[in-house]
Amino acid sequence: MNDTAEPETAEPDNALHQTRTGLDRDHLKRAFLDNLFYLQGRFLEVATTNDLYQAAAYTVRDRMLERWIKTAQTYKKTNARTVCYLSAEFLLGPHLVNNLVNLGILEAACEAGAELGLDFDAIVEAEEEPGLGNGGLGRLAACYMDSLATLQIPAIGYGIRYEFGIFDQVIVDGWQTERGDTWLRTGNPWEIPRPKLAFPVGFGGHTEHYTDTQGALRTRWVPSLVVNGVAYDTPIMGYGVGNVNLLRLWKSEAPESFDFQAFNVGDYYGAVHEKMEAETISKVLYPNDEPVAGKELRLKQQYFFVSCSLQDMLRLQLGIAWDLDSFHEKFAIQLNDTHPSLAVAELMRLLMDEQLMDWDQAWHITTNACHFTNHTLLPEALETWSVELFERLLPRHLEIIYEINRRFLDQVRVHFFGDEARVARMSLIDEGGGRRVRMANLAAVGSKAINGVAALHTELLKNTVMRDFYEMWPEKFHNVTNGVTPRRFVAVSNPRLAALITETCGDDRWLSDLTCLKQLEEQAEDHALQTAWREVKTAAKQDLANWLGKHAGFTPDPETLFDVQAKRIHEYKRQHLNLLHIVWLYEQIKQSPNVELTPRTFIFGGKAAPGYFMAKLIIKLVNAIGEVVNNDPQVNGWLRVLFMPDFNVKNGQRLYPAADLSEQISMAGKEASGTGNMKFSMNGALTIGTLDGANVEIRDEVGHDNFFLFGMTAPEAQQRQAEGYRPWEVYHGNHALKSAVDLIASGLFSHGDTELFRPLTDNLIHSDPFMVLADFQSYVDCQHEVDRAYRAPHHWHRMSILNTARMGKFSSDRSIQDYVDKIWHAAPLPIDL
Ligand SMILES: *Cc1c(COP(=O)(O)O)cnc(C)c1O
Repeated sequence: MNDTAEPETAEPDNALHQTRTGLDRDHLKRAFLDNLFYLQGRFLEVATTNDLYQAAAYTVRDRMLERWIKTAQTYKKTNARTVCYLSAEFLLGPHLVNNLVNLGILEAACEAGAELGLDFDAIVEAEEEPGLGNGGLGRLAACYMDSLATLQIPAIGYGIRYEFGIFDQVIVDGWQTERGDTWLRTGNPWEIPRPKLAFPVGFGGHTEHYTDTQGALRTRWVPSLVVNGVAYDTPIMGYGVGNVNLLRLWKSEAPESFDFQAFNVGDYYGAVHEKMEAETISKVLYPNDEPVAGKELRLKQQYFFVSCSLQDMLRLQLGIAWDLDSFHEKFAIQLNDTHPSLAVAELMRLLMDEQLMDWDQAWHITTNACHFTNHTLLPEALETWSVELFERLLPRHLEIIYEINRRFLDQVRVHFFGDEARVARMSLIDEGGGRRVRMANLAAVGSKAINGVAALHTELLKNTVMRDFYEMWPEKFHNVTNGVTPRRFVAVSNPRLAALITETCGDDRWLSDLTCLKQLEEQAEDHALQTAWREVKTAAKQDLANWLGKHAGFTPDPETLFDVQAKRIHEYKRQHLNLLHIVWLYEQIKQSPNVELTPRTFIFGGKAAPGYFMAKLIIKLVNAIGEVVNNDPQVNGWLRVLFMPDFNVKNGQRLYPAADLSEQISMAGKEASGTGNMKFSMNGALTIGTLDGANVEIRDEVGHDNFFLFGMTAPEAQQRQAEGYRPWEVYHGNHALKSAVDLIASGLFSHGDTELFRPLTDNLIHSDPFMVLADFQSYVDCQHEVDRAYRAPHHWHRMSILNTARMGKFSSDRSIQDYVDKIWHAAPLPIDL
């Protein structure tokens, strides 16, 4: 096979070559017009915005290809240790500007566009973002791809090329409605299909046992359905380096042979049906942020991409070395949550059944190759699959899992003599009720390292959901606090701030070493910097206001405090706590119009899982409150409430720069890390937040005086629940809280309908699983502090500058360096240009 990661090289004619690779304005212009003509069949005068975007995208891609090929060749030649990041989601966001920034040619491209008389911003807007993820977990994978390339670590991202990514959210009458995401409709210039790079993936059938020529007992899996996984490759540019890594996503197809066969036996409809079944696997992303009751197709998706990815790794290894003994030295596999944890069983199967290795050696390789990141603490979110489904879909893997379990539980019995309760808890099979396979246990047993995603989260992991494993293997546990890429979330999304930082620091080193932002600290009190800082923020707020004017009903006043909560809608994230505060403010203004308040615009954004009733009701409530408040002339100089539709990476890039205040108000102990919190703070927003996830570390870094803390700690919340939490007592004991809840229940926000929001208010009063009521007073008091602080601009801007200055730790470059040092032990391999 020559159709591998590395396309073929040719010696190109120099002038032509320059048109494809030259980075200056004139070559960009020339290349753009060429691409418009030869790829789109258009010339400037008649080109649509999409034509212009496609031509621009190909122009940029051309400039990445030479580096990509060189990178692949160098990695191969040196047989470099390679990180394989397995993730069911990559929430990439738009490529165009990001690649221009990473190539260092954003300015040249803008100039080229201007000279051609083009509207650069309109071209950028035309890109449909690949929304191949739900939220934080998928975005993390995308940030890590950016940082791996920037740190020059040989790496491949493996995932699924969903034909439909996360749905588009459209608000109709205040309710979320979902529209299919058709991101591929106009073509995807950033990917290169590799139709010949495909692997068979089996499902169903049965296993057979036989004796091989050496006399060893072997197993053969005879699946009843085989589909093909075809590779689609996207280049991932590092910032300011020659390295371009590979993101390889798998699309499912029917095997080539197939219609044919069926046609011969005359079963035409049967053939079409099977073809559709094969193609269904990579059709659509499940839109749930946290896993819910197992859908068969979801398990198929997981096995599909894991199997393709591992077969690809074996192919790469066998293409270089003749044997697989050193597989785990060549590859460090990172499992992004439990979604790819079938890798443990599949690697065992491939090594034993297909490569004829014995158990012990296969197990040695597997457990030294795999590493597992845990992303949740919600016990109900821990993924399990019924044994019955496994038996039907993956009979061979179930056998392997049973054997792993048998050997593992023997070890547990030796380690914890006589503790059968512990054996039952640690088993890969949950024997209670219907028998189920525990995916986190599978990943933990099959991995060399297990990590949490923030310091608090890792500690809680060790004490709760993974406690037994921690007690058995304390040395396996690590913390790697999440991070975000400052290229996308500062340079791309907030160019004015990036320019101001570069000017203030004297150079742009901060973009590849974010700790350089520390230099800003010295000037945090400087009035000139504060003034410039405020102008940058106001300009970003004006941009957002204009956008919201077009897309969300009205244009907020950039002089007001922009208070933003943007993330998936989830009860544990407590958007309704924010709403109770807003309703309380509204009542205060209505009752005493002279109450001293800081004018605010509350902005919400986020998608609800389509089947998550309570989350959808929260969206409706945001819009319902907005409708009343925004149309009440008595308050709307003080208070505005807006819902930004379709929160995704692109819209996030509009929000993060424009926020004054970032709402990170989850119930303590529920948010594993959060990454939105980091994006806001990097862009100079102050945080109002609980001691949850990475908030704890953010607060320690930016300084306790520069962070608005409220609410119970995780241990306090735990204790209060253990003692028997009675929300109705809190409700009856707090006048402000009771009147806010009652106002919602009264029908004021629902045209007199007292039933509409009852599920929400009843739930709060009678059950309140995320302790919204318990934290209400503390939150309101803290918001009062925010009000006062905002009215002292110098004080506020100083805090804002210090927030940005002290966010160095939260670059995903630091996270990746942590993984490299603690877990992967990989080395940078620079690509010279
Ligand atoms: C960063 C990001 C998230 C994660 O936000 P949290 O506040 O950490 O939950 C979700 N969705 C998108 C589009 C993001 O960019």
